[in-house]
Amino acid sequence: MSSREQELPFVPAELNRDVIGAEAVGVRGRISDPTPLPRYRDAAGEDVDFPPVDNGLDYLVSVVDGLERDEYGERPGPRKLKYAVLHLQAAAEVLLKARLEIEHWTLVTENITNKKVSREKFEKGEFTSITPEEAVRRIREIVGEEISKEEAAGLDKLTKRRNALQHYRLTTTYEEIESLTAEVLVFLMRFLHESLLPRLTPAEHDRIKDDLTYVTGGTIRIQRYVTERMEQIRPALKGKDECIVQCPRCAQDAVLVTGNGGHRAAEAAKCLFCRTTWTADALATDYVLYHLAGFFQDDVPPCPTCHRNRPVVRYVVRGTEMNAPRDSDRSPYDSVTFCFACARPAAEAPAAPAHPA
Ligand SMILES: [Zn+2]
Ligand SMILES: [Zn+2]
Repeated sequence: MSSREQELPFVPAELNRDVIGAEAVGVRGRISDPTPLPRYRDAAGEDVDFPPVDNGLDYLVSVVDGLERDEYGERPGPRKLKYAVLHLQAAAEVLLKARLEIEHWTLVTENITNKKVSREKFEKGEFTSITPEEAVRRIREIVGEEISKEEAAGLDKLTKRRNALQHYRLTTTYEEIESLTAEVLVFLMRFLHESLLPRLTPAEHDRIKDDLTYVTGGTIRIQRYVTERMEQIRPALKGKDECIVQCPRCAQDAVLVTGNGGHRAAEAAKCLFCRTTWTADALATDYVLYHLAGFFQDDVPPCPTCHRNRPVVRYVVRGTEMNAPRDSDRSPYDSVTFCFACARPAAEAPAAPAHPA
């Protein structure tokens, strides 16, 4: 075994799970590990126990299953769409209220001055809950967290569709449902990551992580979601082509390699699309496994800046190469040897400067 192989150990368990995640997202996976399944909740005789965030995610599992095209690329039929709308609305309601409940449980109850409101009754579910509209208002005005006008409008439209479906009838087109559900899903995933996940205990986090991986993977198979989300992150990626590479997990051209904090930094690279973060070394390993099918990187030279070879990868195609204009001296088929720790080409320097002015 060469020293280089010793330096690049086999994928640690943590990373390996991420790679399995790449398979789950249905991208051009070269790894044949089975798709992780959402938490199995149907064991016979097991008690019903869905804490709010788990409950919301469980609905989202059903939503992504319902919206996904089948193996022949056929879009879901009316019945699946109907349940996707119902369950997405339920997910939204549960997750918004979960945030309020973290702030204080009384924020979920309609009339706090009502003398019948008590913690005991709340625990038993004996209380009048607020409307989704009021939940949005309280998150904005009382908790002080941002929900944009567009996000609130999408939620409102979804609530109306849900009401029509549940109490009367709904006639609409596939395109309209697809567009509306994608819009609300993009919002809910943002809300989950920004407002809920950072407030969960490690145990709570552990309980939902498989569902979260499953839902993240599911959203990537919904084309309209991909379009909406890429639109949302486009400004953050703009002008950073020389530091953008394709994500080994969701296959979007959305990994921003910052090099901030050197090779040990936990967030040396982040996929703005699926929100996965890596250390520079972990991204290098992941990148080689996924994009280069583990192609031998044995004699890769050390980076002239950080003098390490572990974060250095050959044949890295960045935004610079992917989006190269036809008349430039680059082509979309070009690649560079790149250091993920320094976020710049490491060797075999291209004709163009590493950081063009
Ligand atoms: Zn990604
Ligand atoms: Zn370097």
